[in-house]
Amino acid sequence: MRYEPVIGLEVHAQLQTRTKLFCGCRTTFGLDPNTQTCPVCLGLPGALPVINEKAVELAIRTGLALHCTIRRLNRFARKNYFYPDLPKGYQISQYEEPICEHGWLEVSVNGTWKRVRIRRAHLEEDAGKTIHMEHVTSSLVDLNRAGTPLLEIVTEPDLQSSEEVVAYLKALRDILRYLDVCDGNMEQGSLRCEPNLSLRPVGSSQLGTKVELKNINSFKFVKDAIDYEIARQTRVLEEGGTIQQETRLWDWDRGKTVVMRGKEEAHDYRYFPDPDLVPVHVSEDWIAQVEATLPELPQARQRRLMTQYGLPEYDASVLTSERALADYFEACVALFPDAKTVSHFVMGELLREVKQTGGSVEASPVTPAHLAELLKLVESGVISLKVARELFPELYATGKSPAQVVEEKGLQQISDEGMLRSWIEEVLRTNPNQVAQYCRGKETVLGFFVGQVMKASGGKANPQKVNELLRQVLAAWKEA
Ligand code: ADP
Ligand code: ZN
Ligand code: MG
Repeated sequence: MRYEPVIGLEVHAQLQTRTKLFCGCRTTFGLDPNTQTCPVCLGLPGALPVINEKAVELAIRTGLALHCTIRRLNRFARKNYFYPDLPKGYQISQYEEPICEHGWLEVSVNGTWKRVRIRRAHLEEDAGKTIHMEHVTSSLVDLNRAGTPLLEIVTEPDLQSSEEVVAYLKALRDILRYLDVCDGNMEQGSLRCEPNLSLRPVGSSQLGTKVELKNINSFKFVKDAIDYEIARQTRVLEEGGTIQQETRLWDWDRGKTVVMRGKEEAHDYRYFPDPDLVPVHVSEDWIAQVEATLPELPQARQRRLMTQYGLPEYDASVLTSERALADYFEACVALFPDAKTVSHFVMGELLREVKQTGGSVEASPVTPAHLAELLKLVESGVISLKVARELFPELYATGKSPAQVVEEKGLQQISDEGMLRSWIEEVLRTNPNQVAQYCRGKETVLGFFVGQVMKASGGKANPQKVNELLRQVLAAWKEA
């Protein structure tokens, strides 16, 4: 019997609010342990939570971008469990009345589009962090993160492979970033992904028993963990065994998943409406206001870049992966309309420098105006494309204007005919064999001559001009 995987995802996105979900403590990452706490997020008796309006707005923003219905009346519920990093003994979450429901997101996998249904997206608070140190018998708890707002985005079990999951996650992360809702950093844990995975016989429409995977903090681990788990479950079933419903951890060191805990069901959490919080009313006006501030989203922008500038799909998808990058590209094209050339420089030179220096596109010392200026120097023949490429790192390092640097360094191409002719004649004189070959009809030696002339000029001769003149001079020699 052959089996097919069925996968649904729970993604936790940390919302970019200044303060926590129910108190005024800061959400800044990496501060000294237990310095960003108060009676509310420490769960002290009698402390009362108050909802952070900005977090609700970010949830609405995300819900609209994901084509969800926004619940006009939504409520918080307590999810009860005990763990040392959860001082209240319950997590404030949403259960029966989540703020967003019934949305979808389309992802492209190997050139085909697939619609992934989104079951719900709800607000909840994060727990603290337990720190286990090697060779120390006690564990430490840092409650700075306790109470940080999360949006949990849950799909229907619509995904079928690790490639689809990664494509979905990337698309979702890009959207969250465009929206300024979440920074999407998986390594720091501001975007966390928990795949639920089961197998079923090919052709069956019934769902098998699922396993939930945790502890995955990079796209690579998402892929590795899912591929491993598909292979593991297949083996168990083929050997006549059954899958246990459980939560498993991805152990990246050993490259396998290991059991964390057994089956748990909703009723284990004894959900009930939180009596300390009033229901949240979302008015039509509020939704309309949020909708009016939505930016053009990555997929729509990708399609527009393809039609408006004639870019290939690949270029358009790279350029729109980040809002700042697409902004940069469009600002530059407005000044220098050869989109293909701009796109090459942005994807090649610019992204390489940004990556190597750990910088950001927004703060690029080579502004869109600088890049346009550089490309105009190429277009008007002042410098070659090669020189423009070579110059880019220096422009990036110094932030100087391209025209100024070209002037300072004397990088202008030499197009002066007299100069070029003297180099050409010199090259032809010293290579009589190749000239004879050319006269016998071997056109390919032309490239050799161009190379020699370029060398003689220290790389500064205008190659196009050299080509033209070479043909003229050779024609004259042939006749003579
Ligand atoms: P739980 O209560 O254990 O969190 P849910 O039914 O709420 O389970 O679903 C959580 C996630 O698991 C959802 O993304 C859902 O699509 C997915 N899921 C549910 N059942 C299965 C299954 N049998 N196989 C794969 N994924 C599943
Ligand atoms: Zn607090
Ligand atoms: Mg779950």
